[in-house]
Amino acid sequence: MTKTTLPSMVYGPVPSWRLGRSLGIDPVSTQSKTCSFDCVYCQLGRTAYPLAERRLFVTAEMLRQQLTAAKEASIDTITFSGVGEPTLAANLGELVEVVRAELGGHPVAILTNASLIWREDVQRDLMRFDIVVAKVDAPTEELFHAINRPIGQVELAQILDGIRHFRQGFTGKLALQMMFIEANQNQARQMAALARTCRPDEVQLNTPLRPCPVRPLSVSEMAAIEAEFAGLSTINVYTAERPQVVPLDMQATRRRRPREARTIQD
Ligand code: SF4
Repeated sequence: MTKTTLPSMVYGPVPSWRLGRSLGIDPVSTQSKTCSFDCVYCQLGRTAYPLAERRLFVTAEMLRQQLTAAKEASIDTITFSGVGEPTLAANLGELVEVVRAELGGHPVAILTNASLIWREDVQRDLMRFDIVVAKVDAPTEELFHAINRPIGQVELAQILDGIRHFRQGFTGKLALQMMFIEANQNQARQMAALARTCRPDEVQLNTPLRPCPVRPLSVSEMAAIEAEFAGLSTINVYTAERPQVVPLDMQATRRRRPREARTIQD
C-alpha cells in the first residue's frame, strides 16, 4: 500500500491568551508565509508568497483525514490561523463545515488580518464562525501602510467599512486585535475611537512578545494604552491568563509558532 504524506494543517493545541486551549487549523499550509500583509512585527518573517486574491490551498478531504488524530485532544476552541492569512483560502466556508462535522461541540474561531473582509464571499464565509478576530493596527492610511505593508491596492477605509458592515449581520463574537508598537503607541486614543465605530464585543491589546524585528512595548506602556479604551471590553497580552497544554505534534506547531509554540498563540 502506498503511504501518502499530507502537509500538516492541524497543529497545537496551543495555550492562547485569547482563546484558551486552542487547536489550530491552517487552511493555507504553504511551506513559508502566504499573506496579503507583510507586517513589520510578523513573527514569521517577511512574506514569502505575497497574495491578495483567494485560491485553493488544501481540500476538504485532506483536512478531514488530518482531524482524526485531534479528536481526543482536550481543547476549548478550534482556531483557523497558521502560516499566513486564512481568508485567502477560497474554500474556507467548506473547511469550517468539515471541522464542525468532525469536531463538533467546540466554538470555531478565526484570526484574520481583515484585508479581504470587504468582499461579499469572505463575509459569507466569516459568518460561519462563532468568533471572528479581526486585525486593526492603525487609525490612518499612512500608518496602515507603514505597519501592515499591504499587498495590492487595499485601503484601511475599505477594511474598516467591511468590518462595520460585517458587524451588522454577525451575531457571533467579534473581537478586534490591535498590535501596539512604537510606531502607533501614541495613537491609542484614535484607535479606541475607531474601535468604538466597529462595535466589537472585545478589543485584544497586543504587543509583539515573540521574536521579531520590532521592540515590544512594556507592561506600563500597554497599561497606559488600555486606559484609553475605557468603556470597551479589553484584554491585554500582559495580564491575560494562559492555560497549560501539550501540542499533539510539536513540529507542526513550531512551524506556525516559532520558538514559542508552548507559550502563546498570536
Ligand atoms: S497579517 Fe499576520 S501573518 Fe500576515 S504579515 Fe501580518 S502578522 Fe504576519
